[in-house]
Amino acid sequence: MEIRLFGDPVLRSKAADVTQIDGSVARLCDSMFTTMYAARGIGLAAPQVGVRKRLFVYDEPETCGRGVILNPVVTESDGTWIFEEGCLSVPGYSWEIERPRRVALTGVDLDGNEVTVEADELFARLIQHEIDHLDGVLLTERLDPEQRRAALTELRRRGLGSSGAGLFPSLGTE
Ligand code: ZN
Repeated sequence: MEIRLFGDPVLRSKAADVTQIDGSVARLCDSMFTTMYAARGIGLAAPQVGVRKRLFVYDEPETCGRGVILNPVVTESDGTWIFEEGCLSVPGYSWEIERPRRVALTGVDLDGNEVTVEADELFARLIQHEIDHLDGVLLTERLDPEQRRAALTELRRRGLGSSGAGLFPSLGTE
């Protein structure tokens, strides 16, 4: 599958809950894993391949292993942790971003069973990043205002996100 890049409107839209878990969802997840591995990523959310469904895949052998979470909802978060974060939809960049250090979430697995996950540091970061994608939020929106201005200038200079109007909707409000 093709990974959608910064500036693609699908990355700005809120994804809908998965209401029916069937073969097409399992196939989507398989394709997403293949796409994620090819891009050497550790997490990929459905909107990043143009699908507005609330699910993401991940594989990070050192911490959480491989998995799929559908309809994730963060139930708890605490602490703060600054980590250099990147995104397959904004290739070639990373920024130090502060987020909660720990999160707990509920979701559903591919068999339709409810799952709860407690995560810290890298896994917690991955989860928060992917859930942001499901809400149409990119990591550039998690930067502090100064970082963000520099980042958007640089991305524009590189021609990312330059294919239409309204790509930086929150810039005007800051
Ligand atoms: Zn991302």
